[in-house]
Amino acid sequence: MAHEESRYSRQVLVSWIGEKGQEAIMNGTAVIIGLGALGSTIANILARSGVGTLRLVDRDFVDWTNLQRQGLYDEADARNSLPKAVAAKEHLVRINSEINYEVIVDDVNPGNVERVVAGASVVLDGLDNFYTRVLINEACVKLGIPWIHGACISTYGTLATILPGDTACYNCLFPDASSMTSPYTCDTVGVLGPIAFIIASWEASEALKILAGRKDLVSRKLMWLDLWKNEITSILTERDRECPVCAAREFPMLQQHDRVMTSSICGRNAVQVLPDVSRGFDFESTLHVLSRAFPVEFNQYLLRIHCGEHEIVLFRDGRAIVFGTSDPKVAKSLYTRYIGG
Ligand SMILES: [Zn+2]
Repeated sequence: MAHEESRYSRQVLVSWIGEKGQEAIMNGTAVIIGLGALGSTIANILARSGVGTLRLVDRDFVDWTNLQRQGLYDEADARNSLPKAVAAKEHLVRINSEINYEVIVDDVNPGNVERVVAGASVVLDGLDNFYTRVLINEACVKLGIPWIHGACISTYGTLATILPGDTACYNCLFPDASSMTSPYTCDTVGVLGPIAFIIASWEASEALKILAGRKDLVSRKLMWLDLWKNEITSILTERDRECPVCAAREFPMLQQHDRVMTSSICGRNAVQVLPDVSRGFDFESTLHVLSRAFPVEFNQYLLRIHCGEHEIVLFRDGRAIVFGTSDPKVAKSLYTRYIGG
């Protein structure tokens, strides 16, 4: 297949890839979870690189605020409110029609996460919340699948590559992540387009090393980059020998199949969202950050914001009622976007 050789020829010429590495890449499967700013660019790069199968996973749809930094989408996708996984595949097929695509339009939760990552050569983080990263970490450690954590907000971002049984896992790095909520989301403090493209490219590069059979070349540090300050730092990471996930192999979050996070409120076109805030919820910080982005009505018990056709009422303990929808997935997505996750 002469045209395939020419398509990938510049990548094959990279000395540590070569023909053998390219063949491994073309036999590999990459699962991209979250197809926003990070995931859409990761998918673009990995499709062009010839990764054999791309599994595209996202629960959200394209809107106008996405176009500034989510490199695969265009105005028609936003106008049509296409699910991101569907829109991504439509664009990717035009970029590379010779690889396989699997589309999953769903929320990732304890009940499906092992199925979502099954069979992957590598899993890439395009997420916007801690909870799902903790789930992915447990599933990937349990199944022995390498995964790449990336995140960005405002003008900075982080990256860590996790090789189960070898490097520190996400729980070694962030042991409190499962109960963390952050008032800082890209919908409250923003995100600079270039930082998303850089972190996404960095994740894709780490994935290509793994796919090409060169795990020895991945980063063993937690990397941190701030584009506005032109600062780059790294911390050498170490496994926690008492880590409940990668040492004891207990996987507590995977077992929380019955955790109730959302419930529809009958007859009111509203859904209640119950986040896990066992370590406390910082209402004042959330109010402060939201007030800088939106008109916020509040009293000592709750705050209320209007976002498009929806309205969110947030109580001091972190519980919220999302009005204007009866779909728990929509309510959970709005909660993550505006309150944090
Ligand atoms: Zn660990």
